[in-house]
Amino acid sequence: MSTETFEFQVEARQLLQMMIHSIYSNKDVFLRELISNASDALDKLRLEVLRDDALREDTSDLHISLEVDKKERTLTVRDNGIGMSHADVVQLIGTIANSGTAKFLKELKESQDAGNSEELIGQFGVGFYSSFMVADEVTLVTRRAGESQGTRWESTGEGTYTVGSVDDAPQGTAVTLRLKPEDTEDQLFDYTSGWKIREIVKRYSDFITWPIRMAAESAGSEDDESVDGTPREPETVNSMKALWARPKSEVTDAEYNELYKHISHDWTDPLETIRMQAEGTFEYQALLFLPSHAPQDLFMQGHKRGVQLYVKRVFIMDECEALMPEYLRFVKGVVDAQDLSLNVSREILQQDRQIQLMHRRLVKKVLSTVKDMMSAHPDRYLTFWQEFGRVVKEGLLSDFENRDAILGISSFGTTRDEEKLTTLREYVERMKEGQQHIFYMTGESRSAIESSPHMEAFQAKGIEVLLLTDPVDEVWVQSVPEFEGKQLLSIAKGEVDLDTEEEKKEVEAEREKQQQDFADLLAWMTKELAEHVKEVRLSSRLTVSPACIVGDTHDVTPALENMYRAMGQ
Ligand code: ADP
Ligand code: MG
Repeated sequence: MSTETFEFQVEARQLLQMMIHSIYSNKDVFLRELISNASDALDKLRLEVLRDDALREDTSDLHISLEVDKKERTLTVRDNGIGMSHADVVQLIGTIANSGTAKFLKELKESQDAGNSEELIGQFGVGFYSSFMVADEVTLVTRRAGESQGTRWESTGEGTYTVGSVDDAPQGTAVTLRLKPEDTEDQLFDYTSGWKIREIVKRYSDFITWPIRMAAESAGSEDDESVDGTPREPETVNSMKALWARPKSEVTDAEYNELYKHISHDWTDPLETIRMQAEGTFEYQALLFLPSHAPQDLFMQGHKRGVQLYVKRVFIMDECEALMPEYLRFVKGVVDAQDLSLNVSREILQQDRQIQLMHRRLVKKVLSTVKDMMSAHPDRYLTFWQEFGRVVKEGLLSDFENRDAILGISSFGTTRDEEKLTTLREYVERMKEGQQHIFYMTGESRSAIESSPHMEAFQAKGIEVLLLTDPVDEVWVQSVPEFEGKQLLSIAKGEVDLDTEEEKKEVEAEREKQQQDFADLLAWMTKELAEHVKEVRLSSRLTVSPACIVGDTHDVTPALENMYRAMGQ
């Protein structure tokens, strides 16, 4: 049987080095990762059997088993789930498929800063590779459901791995870790101890909906075989209780956090946990999470929308786009509906009226949770906004029903305070007497906007201007006319009216005089610059700069012009 040797991709090798040298102090989490993969594999198999009549696999006893061998110092995590083909193994295990992770690793390499890598690791999670935190050799034997050939993958994590065929592999996947000898000596990290393994499962994987089995403990020996050599009875270690179905008061924050990590593949705790229940004709439970940081690929094509759909505790699908709008794509969680068919398809979901109602309620709940966070936990809200504000504002363009709610939870830079953001409500409350409108200017950065000549008159009069510096700001301001009856007005467009009635009269008289004085010059300039500008006129808005270019009220802004040009339009 031929065995091929492959080299790890550069990024994968780098990640493995970080694992081997164990920069992550909480090594226990490797087991969470392996169990999480096994659980996903069981979900996938059950679904595939449900959808594909031709697939004849036994799904009557889907489970995960953990096997400890003290003598050999190995720990095996086995599942009888979907398994992997030869090609899957090479593609999934040998490379880092997630483009966000690869990009992140490049940046990390460039910065050469390993000092805070533990924190950085937590930002994306490393899944299967975390095995190398505790093992000096990892063997994976797998057979894809429906195929006859199995595959063996093996590596010490040092640059290369081998892949070969196996004839008698059971269907599913077994990952065997040869544990590092130094860990076995330390009670804290002794992963050959059944007690230790049980404790980790309880802590991190209790809610997993598949049974996690281990040989029963008995005094004395902890091996899978008892003293007389007969195998011990397996027992189920996890409670398998769906957290969203348990009374709120019974579930601890730590348990919610672990579920979040399982479904999001994130290694850090969520910022906020949201629970919802609906009873009556269409019953469902939802458990949603707002992450504490944006994933690397949030703005990349194909980013996963995170809400999973369950039907009566049974996992149905990931990335259920019918449940969350694009602009809330960072929300993770589980929605468990009572009255749907297990065979429900994405197409059916998109059209189902009950699902649409549920979608509306989920969106409103997320938005109101953020609103509550603003007053109850301002610093949490700030983190949220810094991480996800750019995405949330996309909703101003697509979700008209919730536009006011989105504006209400939005924050913006302001000329008033360099350090702090402001909400529109706060801006309105501070408006000067006689000020009619909410003034803003879009641009690439705070400094670019602040040095703009358009700003001068506002600075001179001490009028606050919102500084909108996200690319998406250019777009939504075009379609949002007002907030609570106050018009949103760009200071870079058309005639901006800053003065009181009295001042206006004076200015008007002055301007008329000047207009006459300069009539010839303006006519001449308009003629000379005809190719570039529509009109040359005197302006009252500049105090220092001699001239500036303004757009018509309905013109596109210079930044948007650039954007269109970049897109080839
Ligand atoms: P992630 O789970 O975030 O995708 P991992 O590194 O944990 O990343 O796993 C990489 C991929 O390898 C998984 O997405 C899955 O396709 C495959 N895989 C890992 N473990 C198993 C398993 N036990 N059974 C089937 N496929 C698996
Ligand atoms: Mg994983």
